Amino acid sequence: MKTATSKKLFAQSQRVIPGGVNSPVRAFRSVGGSPLFIKRAQGAKVTDVDGNTYLDYVASWGPMVLGHANPSVVRAIQRAASLGTSYGAPTEQELILAQMICRAFPSIEKVRLVSSGTEAVMSAIRVARGFTKRDAILKFEGCYHGHADHLLVKAGSGAATLGLPDSPGVPKAAASQTLTAPYNDIDAVKSLIHKHWRKLACIIVEPIAGNMGVVLPKKEFLRQLRTLTKKHGILLIFDEVISGFRVSYGGAQTLYDIKPDLTCLGKIIGGGLPVGAYGGRQEIMDLIAPVGPVYQAGTLSGNPLAVTAGIETLKKLSTSGVYEKLERRGQQLAEGLGKAAKQANIPFYQTRVGSLMGGFFTNGRVTDYASAKTSDTTRYAKFFHKMLERGSYFAPSQFEAAFVSTVHTAADIDQTLEAAHQVFKKL
Ligand SMILES: *Cc1c(COP(=O)(O)O)cnc(C)c1O
Repeated sequence: MKTATSKKLFAQSQRVIPGGVNSPVRAFRSVGGSPLFIKRAQGAKVTDVDGNTYLDYVASWGPMVLGHANPSVVRAIQRAASLGTSYGAPTEQELILAQMICRAFPSIEKVRLVSSGTEAVMSAIRVARGFTKRDAILKFEGCYHGHADHLLVKAGSGAATLGLPDSPGVPKAAASQTLTAPYNDIDAVKSLIHKHWRKLACIIVEPIAGNMGVVLPKKEFLRQLRTLTKKHGILLIFDEVISGFRVSYGGAQTLYDIKPDLTCLGKIIGGGLPVGAYGGRQEIMDLIAPVGPVYQAGTLSGNPLAVTAGIETLKKLSTSGVYEKLERRGQQLAEGLGKAAKQANIPFYQTRVGSLMGGFFTNGRVTDYASAKTSDTTRYAKFFHKMLERGSYFAPSQFEAAFVSTVHTAADIDQTLEAAHQVFKKL
């Protein structure tokens, strides 16, 4: 595997971009080595600047559920670009995407489009605070909700990967309004609510945690969160930036039949372009300016290219059989990896919902951040590099998800599994 060009570009990038990357996990810090610079991507595959092609299970960290450069999405973006790339005025496309989101998520009566998941969550929390007139929030250890100050407390994703759960630069005052509990631990939530409910504006949770690896919610966990929050006038926010339109068209909330007060979306709804969205009950959303006093704005919010890519992606996802196919392919990959691990006698704890999955190199069950951290990250690093050498590109961290797309074929996945059978024997 030639990597000279990637290495050269990385060296140059490090001179002008912190760490050579514009988002930390891209840097391969936790698995070692030098990141691949990608030149192009098509379907289930990405090709780097040295000409190596890989089956891609990173999916740009979730958005590329249709695979890369889907022809209809690309054509739609091209058409939109020729009509101008931003107007700073409303468009029919924004209306269409908003309608699609409201139809897909019964809990969302009104939705506001923004430009990233971070912005969506930050804004949802602001409106939750405005609505309840309370300041504190409760989040779960290992859940990642973007990089806003008050959410960089015991956060997952890059923060977990790099061992920087609490970032310098976050004022103590901002973090002090954030309470945390272990994921899936309803007793911890109960005792925090018991003590602090009068100041708790919201509980925010990834209904399927995807930023400490993939950790599934226990059966009653989400339902009990719903009951408890309702009882104490606390808003429940589902951060479905990963799970929205991924685990089902209507996200995890549809799968588990739970209605949060607010929902955050991102990733898939931009079809690979920068978009986020937050929405929920009308009575809450109508507090947002210009209707209400809670301020939130964005020069490029609802950008015509991004919204067009989103509409086209959702259209494809709403055709029949898509989620069944994602389930089949997801199952094929997960079962195959499990089998390879078993044959090689490697402890490997797997989690999966449809095309969203994780595998932890650990003996016990993984139900929260503490158990996720028992994973052998050195072994993961080996797995990552050896799979890469054999043409399969998984996330460069134990604490991220793997994704399959609608265009991964059974043969693609078989190819990855053949590699996995060799690789697990060498771990
Ligand atoms: C990716 C992610 C975010 C942040 O979205 P960005 O677009 O990266 O700002 C927020 N919440 C969850 C659950 C995510 O996975």
